[in-house]
Amino acid sequence: MEDLLEELLAECRPYTQQGTLANYIPELAKGNIDDLGIYVQRSDGRHYQVGDYKKRFTIQSVVKPILLLLALLDNGEEFVRSRIGVEATGKPFDAINVTDQSLLSEHLNPMVNMGAIAMCSLIKGATYEERFQRLLDLTRTLAGDPNICLDEAVYQSEKRTGNKNRALAFLLKSYGLLQDDVEEVLDCYFKACSISVNSKDLAQVGFVLANRGKLPQTDERIFPSRYAHYVNAILMTCGMYDGSGDFAVRVGVPAKSGVGGGIMAVVPTRMGIGIFSPGLDGKGNSLAGAQVLERLSKRMYLSIF
Ligand code: GLU
Repeated sequence: MEDLLEELLAECRPYTQQGTLANYIPELAKGNIDDLGIYVQRSDGRHYQVGDYKKRFTIQSVVKPILLLLALLDNGEEFVRSRIGVEATGKPFDAINVTDQSLLSEHLNPMVNMGAIAMCSLIKGATYEERFQRLLDLTRTLAGDPNICLDEAVYQSEKRTGNKNRALAFLLKSYGLLQDDVEEVLDCYFKACSISVNSKDLAQVGFVLANRGKLPQTDERIFPSRYAHYVNAILMTCGMYDGSGDFAVRVGVPAKSGVGGGIMAVVPTRMGIGIFSPGLDGKGNSLAGAQVLERLSKRMYLSIF
């Protein structure tokens, strides 16, 4: 397995140059386009890692499945389902999901921004600071990494420039889909996206989803098995933005990408995979990262189809 990962690293490193750093959040444009890290956590307890797997980057949209898990834990499936739909949007992450001039909860998807912003308001907590802290705590627990914290520079950068997200939040508010103060909800969303992680953290979170809610090593249950089913199904249909169909054909496992260059892949019952490479393709997915996953899937028969 080590040899295979080294081979994939060498084969896919040249693809890093074909991607583009996200620059609509100015701080993300400072990333190093050459970075490529891979971490695999297997269900037999073994883990394998190569390249820049220790490098930290912001979680960005890969926080969305964690937000969804917390919303499910706080409110139960029925309630969450009534507030946020599950249909794939087939649209970019920051799409305005308005159909026929109306916006209903069923038009929202937890893996794209509008649904994720709405999800922040479903998290329990007396203040939005407390809600974010609870999300951070869950991220630390799932990743088994108590040192995970906020990247202040990316958070400030995103808060300063996130006017599209502001517009989406006000749209939610105008359709009665957001009850709380827009700036408070957005502050929580911007912080959520700015949590600093590495490839290992993503592999660990992916592993808990693959392991139906139980942590590796201790087997401690963090969420009911049913929630893994719920989240993984949505990742499969919408985790890679409007590239999810292509990814399903090429790789065939539930996964979530973020514009920071991270991809978390879930191979049910077998492994969690964390990849980092900040050069993105036209849809906002890590270009070299998807290449690694495609090759790994073919070599190890990972596709669930
Ligand atoms: N914080 C980013 C945004 O809202 C997340 C986008 C992403 O990773 O898809 O624009």
